[in-house]
Amino acid sequence: MNILMISSECVPYVKVGGLADVVGTLPKYLKKQGHDVRIIIPKYRSIDGVKYNLETLPYRLKVRVGKEQESFRIKTCLLDDNIPVYFIENMRYFNRLGIYGDDSGIGYGDNRERYIFFSKASIEAVKAIMFRPDIIHCHDWHTGIIPAYLKTTHSNDGFFWKTSSVYTIHNIAYQGSFDAETTLPLAGFSWEDYKSDKLEFYNTFNFMKAGLAYADIISTVSPTYAKEIQTVSAGNGMEVVIKTRKEDVYGILNGIDYSYWNPRTDKNLKANYSLNNIENKSVCKKDLQEKCGFASDDNVFVVGCVSRFDNQKGFDFIMDVIRKTQHLNIQFIVLGSGDRAIRDGMLYLKSIYPKKISVLNDYNESLAHQIYAGSDAFLMPSRFEPCGLSQIISLAYGTVPIVNKTGGLADTIRDFSKSADGNGFVFDFYAGESLVDKVNVAYNTFNNKNLWSKVVANAFASNYSWDNSVLEYENMYNTALNRRIAYTIYK
Ligand code: ADP
Repeated sequence: MNILMISSECVPYVKVGGLADVVGTLPKYLKKQGHDVRIIIPKYRSIDGVKYNLETLPYRLKVRVGKEQESFRIKTCLLDDNIPVYFIENMRYFNRLGIYGDDSGIGYGDNRERYIFFSKASIEAVKAIMFRPDIIHCHDWHTGIIPAYLKTTHSNDGFFWKTSSVYTIHNIAYQGSFDAETTLPLAGFSWEDYKSDKLEFYNTFNFMKAGLAYADIISTVSPTYAKEIQTVSAGNGMEVVIKTRKEDVYGILNGIDYSYWNPRTDKNLKANYSLNNIENKSVCKKDLQEKCGFASDDNVFVVGCVSRFDNQKGFDFIMDVIRKTQHLNIQFIVLGSGDRAIRDGMLYLKSIYPKKISVLNDYNESLAHQIYAGSDAFLMPSRFEPCGLSQIISLAYGTVPIVNKTGGLADTIRDFSKSADGNGFVFDFYAGESLVDKVNVAYNTFNNKNLWSKVVANAFASNYSWDNSVLEYENMYNTALNRRIAYTIYK
């Protein structure tokens, strides 16, 4: 199959969250299955053209955003020496310091224009490079309008006659919702398509709704989240739309790249380790404690957290736990960036308990690896979590996740206090359980070395590799192809 991924993020070039990990990793596994996979992303200023050896293709292309003609160029390089990645280069929209906004955490005022431009430019780019996709796989709100273009403005475009579209929700909280009156003409859709079963969404134009209404297949990143987003409590208003298409909704768990997230070979660590030489994990722990200015002591329960500062991630639970466990022999290490109020709250706690909490306000890949390795447990009490990669990464480092029972966390972590094969600790917020109680259970388990070594072994034994998920993606793509064929025949 010819598969084209269109996304706003992709590792190693640009990453804000888990979306980037998925788009940079899944293609490698699809390639191994024999598919021709290509990726299109924006050429943000932070992507270093020299480092990645970007080559400029000879096309000078234009697309219309409202009344403006926007020109762009295509740069390219190979991911892993065999997957072509195309970068849409336009100074006006992507040559700025941030990805979605500036340092304040507030999004750019023209994000709507930026991703209308990117979506249209991607469609023109794929034609220019003459890559005729069987599947166009779009990710998150930024590319939600592409399936809509394929079925409206491009429905008679012969280039795409055999192209099916797949739309994946990585996070339903970000939908790209704008007023219809100005957005419809900017994007170039016809008012005829502004209907409740098509582009209209409660009197607004919503990018995600466009993807959900027009894509041949819809997916999200865990089976539990696929069910949750069909309910009022987690659907963010989109539940009815998704339920209407429930036969077409897939929930496929993300994997991680075990060659990258590997404590045996990780160059960011003071010492490499596995279950067989777990004593080296203590070397990493000591190193981390020293870096954070803590007393280095293997008997202290070190609890790490690497996260966006965002309400989604349950920082209210985390702050509560930090306050209520000060009598325990425990140290918290939090690496995060984003929302200022959360950052200030965490820094305030650090100023009160400087020997117990370290707060690193940064986005730092190397430090993230050191926290995954050097902590005993990993805190991830998200209010909702489409899949979550951090808990899976923690498992790979033998670091025991403490999570809320939601979305992908519920699909990947089994509670050790309830079953001997548990690989973490799970509290059920909606059943009235408390994170503080769970951290206490984890703490008591940590102080029983026999029990702790069992849960650590279970963590190491957990495997969420792409090898399994890629087969489910192939199956989903095949269904999408059949849908398209049926649609073309009966149109
Ligand atoms: P989300 O996509 O909602 O942010 P995930 O758990 O799916 O959450 O993915 C988060 C990814 O981003 C992980 O790879 C995690 O290590 C990384 N990450 C998050 N915050 C930071 C940070 N401050 N520094 C380095 N890496 C981070």
